Amino acid sequence: MIRSGEPSFRESVDLMFNRAVRHMDLSPGLEQKIRVCNSTYTVRFGVRLRGKIETFTGYRSVHSEHMEPVKGGIRFALNVSQDEVEALAALMTYKCALVETPFGGSKGGLCIDPRQYDERELELITRRFAYELIKRDLINPAQNVPAPDMGTSEREMAWIADQYARMNTTDINAKACVTGKPLNAGGIQGRVEATGRGIQYALREFFRHPEDVAKAKLSGSLDGKRVIVQGLGNVGYHAAKFLSEEDGAKITAIIERDGALTGEALDVEDVRQWIIKTGSVRDYPGATFVEDGAKLLEAECDILIPAAMEGAIHRGNAERIQAPLLIEAANGPVTFGADEILRKKGTVIIPDMYANAGGVTVSYFEWVKNLSHIRFGRMQRRAEEARHELLVNELERLSEDKGLGWTLSPNFKKKYLHGAGELDLVRSGLDDTMRTAYQAMREVWHGRDDVEDLRMAAYIVSISRVAATYQSKGL
Ligand code: NAD
Repeated sequence: MIRSGEPSFRESVDLMFNRAVRHMDLSPGLEQKIRVCNSTYTVRFGVRLRGKIETFTGYRSVHSEHMEPVKGGIRFALNVSQDEVEALAALMTYKCALVETPFGGSKGGLCIDPRQYDERELELITRRFAYELIKRDLINPAQNVPAPDMGTSEREMAWIADQYARMNTTDINAKACVTGKPLNAGGIQGRVEATGRGIQYALREFFRHPEDVAKAKLSGSLDGKRVIVQGLGNVGYHAAKFLSEEDGAKITAIIERDGALTGEALDVEDVRQWIIKTGSVRDYPGATFVEDGAKLLEAECDILIPAAMEGAIHRGNAERIQAPLLIEAANGPVTFGADEILRKKGTVIIPDMYANAGGVTVSYFEWVKNLSHIRFGRMQRRAEEARHELLVNELERLSEDKGLGWTLSPNFKKKYLHGAGELDLVRSGLDDTMRTAYQAMREVWHGRDDVEDLRMAAYIVSISRVAATYQSKGL
């Protein structure tokens, strides 16, 4: 939701782009070619529901086809608009370039409040929307590959994949037409958690660099850091869960659409189960409830994670944000105006195009898995285990023969003998991606006097890569 006096979401993305390209040496023609959205398709279609025909409006926007297929989620929300999908499609282009997934940028959306429909109705609506996009190759393994976003999940992706397969009965790569599918429908392990997991890996990488941590006026590790998260959906839930359960961070507030919870260290899993059971954070017994949830964005903490929607931090509240470190788990949660205010205050922002790239990264792995028709690790896992076992047995034999009395600790043995399965490989690939991309941004951030912040660094890295692709293709 964009407030009056603020640029629209797409304008905000363009302004951020413009701020970065001023520090680059691109020809004005190429600059414009990269910035503009190539096409946006709007479709209105009817579905017969509850005895009458209801008309829905949907979009699929393609920002850049410098690489194909183009990639980007499909969002189900009432406020979906052309402006929003174009902004999100542009962010996808930059995100894919930054984390080196070989895709152009796209995004789709359907104006709908999914909570108003039952599962059967949602399936009818999703299949009909997918049909409209498939027949125009706006869903296609080689051209345009959607994924889940706000309001959609594995379930909708399975319906879309099945709809594509029904319409393309001889396409052997049909499953690769969409990612974020359930495992039994061609998905990959670790996709559901991927974006939240990526937030965790991004923060771990940030805290590996004391110089960067000091810029945020923080010190030490993630252990004990106070974290506020907005939105306990797919991204926010996984990020908060992993940070609190695995890195020792303390979740001091969870902000949801109907209020917020505060406490010293909230139990994320317990809150999530409460929301699933009651549909709300209200009356949760283990914390204090605050009616005006958004106010807690301004509370004191070490790390703020907006993981709900765009425009949450705007000119109206940016000055009051106390968190010294903000990681944009949602797309566009900080408006252009708020970004300026926060920069002046010295807030360090880990930008969306990097922070939430875990989803598209693992989507890339899923797409590759679908095209190769084999689960990752299936060929190597047991061979790897057998080789490790050989070594362990040999060490134990040597120790016994020579009377050395060595014993390998059971924990070491268990870990060492475990061959990497699909989930291990996905997490390893994601971790590598998040570290490598951070280092690329960091090099620009620290290496150039004219680059003050990570967002500008991220734009410079990704725009340079898109420009290089256009230049080598000979546009
Ligand atoms: P989701 O629908 O699973 O969760 C969104 C959560 O935010 C819900 O719990 C909802 O109740 C809450 N919320 C909605 N309005 C709110 C408000 N005004 N205040 C507080 N909470 C509110 O969506 P998601 O998939 O987690 O996506 C969240 C954000 O992350 C979006 O900006 C999306 O584009 C971005 N993102 C998602 C993915 C992904 O893989 N799902 C990948 C990259 C980026």
